Amino acid sequence: MSVKTITEPARDIPVVHETDVLVVGSGPGGLAAALAAARAGVEVTLLERFGCFGGNITTVGVEGFAWYRHEATVEAGGIGWEFEERAKAMGAAVPESQSLSYELDSEGFKLVADRLVEEAGIHPMLHRQFVAPIMEGDAICGVIVESKVGREAILAKRVIDATGDADIAHRAGAATIKTPVEEMQAASVMFHVAGVDKTAFMEGVKSDPQTYADWSSGEWQVETDGKEDAMFSPFLRKPFEMAQAAGVIPAELNTIGGTWGAVHDSGEMTYMNLVHLGGCDGTDPDSLTQYEIEGRRQAMLAIEALRRFTPGCDGVRLRNFGMTIGIRDTRKIDAVYNMTEDDARHQGRFEDTIGIYPEFIDGYGVLILPTTGRYMQVPYRSMLPKGVRNLLVAGRAIGGDKIAHAATRNMACCAVAGQGAGVAAALSIKSGRDLDAVDLNAVQSTLADQGVRIH
Ligand SMILES: Cc1cc2nc3c(=O)[nH]c(=O)nc-3n(C[C@H](O)[C@H](O)[C@H](O)COP(=O)(O)OP(=O)(O)OC[C@H]3O[C@@H](n4cnc5c(N)ncnc54)[C@H](O)[C@@H]3O)c2cc1C
Repeated sequence: MSVKTITEPARDIPVVHETDVLVVGSGPGGLAAALAAARAGVEVTLLERFGCFGGNITTVGVEGFAWYRHEATVEAGGIGWEFEERAKAMGAAVPESQSLSYELDSEGFKLVADRLVEEAGIHPMLHRQFVAPIMEGDAICGVIVESKVGREAILAKRVIDATGDADIAHRAGAATIKTPVEEMQAASVMFHVAGVDKTAFMEGVKSDPQTYADWSSGEWQVETDGKEDAMFSPFLRKPFEMAQAAGVIPAELNTIGGTWGAVHDSGEMTYMNLVHLGGCDGTDPDSLTQYEIEGRRQAMLAIEALRRFTPGCDGVRLRNFGMTIGIRDTRKIDAVYNMTEDDARHQGRFEDTIGIYPEFIDGYGVLILPTTGRYMQVPYRSMLPKGVRNLLVAGRAIGGDKIAHAATRNMACCAVAGQGAGVAAALSIKSGRDLDAVDLNAVQSTLADQGVRIH
């Protein structure tokens, strides 16, 4: 079908800023990349379409940064670890219910990110949306953004695409792979509630503790290693089944269920991950519009079910939705090396490792927790797109198959990749070498100096 078009007149666009490394997107991947590059001694600019840094943490309300952590878990440390430590120190984290980690406070983390960006001397640029790459042949040398002032150009020696959706790689012509919509991981409208009687709620949880085995019921079947099955999970399904039986939730709506995050003494319960929207395409604004509205509708049904069928919740009310729908899965780059299911399940090892990630797989019907000390390495080549020079991709859009993505999409792994990308971009500028020829020994030793476990 042909689409009606108009022709935009050519125009001059002001160059409002020039920098060494430009990071676009400030989630765990982009924030870590910007901090790492700045600490490696180059000028860094961090660009973000919303009014705060933090990506899904702050804009969606995803607070479970390291909920996989158990006694034997082996991790990379580095900037991901620092996110938690700084959040704790700034009163923006509380102990997480199912692990040895801390749950980040999605609002407080906005301040944590501001502080980290400021301390590292990063040039912050909020409220600007990347819309087009500036190319010289096959090399990216900047981006065009749109904001309240219209179009602006920003020039950079290296660009790190941390948009989550590989927006820059895609528009610059790098090979990308988009999961077919019907196979994409569901999107979620996240919310927080107020008015919980914490004591009564926790008594209810203790009297009927849920486990990871309970994730497999009704619509969902989740494969584990077996060792996860009897472990406690902050899981809620029964209230929604009861609500369906009582006609509060329509019988056909059998996807409401999932996890609660932290319950606070103040009566707030945060990171309510209960609404799952299959079929949402996070790269299509019409689809996003439809599922934002549908997600809010379902969230209110979930709250009504909590009120009626969950101890301690009879007085709950909506406190807030995330600023945006939460997207788990869209495009990934077809990288120089795409990580595989085998790498995620069998401790992949790589000469170009830029950090490790524990054996934590969560997605596409698989849940494996790193309770044994097993881990994989993350290769630099998985962040290197094909066909575009001066560009790295960090965060959930790095190259890999579905099960690899179920590991690398997790926020702490996005931070590992981001830190590696930031250091590599900085060293490639300092050494005058292309990103595909950067001295990997130097990258690894700088990362080690920054506190990252590489091997
Ligand atoms: C509902 C939900 C629950 C989840 N639960 C967990 C969990 O418990 N634990 C876990 O580890 N992971 C979880 N995840 C996954 C995790 O949140 C993401 O995979 C991770 O945040 C990805 O990090 P990122 O840095 O790649 O991108 P994001 O966190 O998505 O950040 C991307 C940033 O780029 C910005 N951006 C995008 N496009 C543009 C543009 N064109 N111009 C300018 N800026 C742009 C965005 O505004 C955003 O700030 C969850 C995800 C969802 C959706």
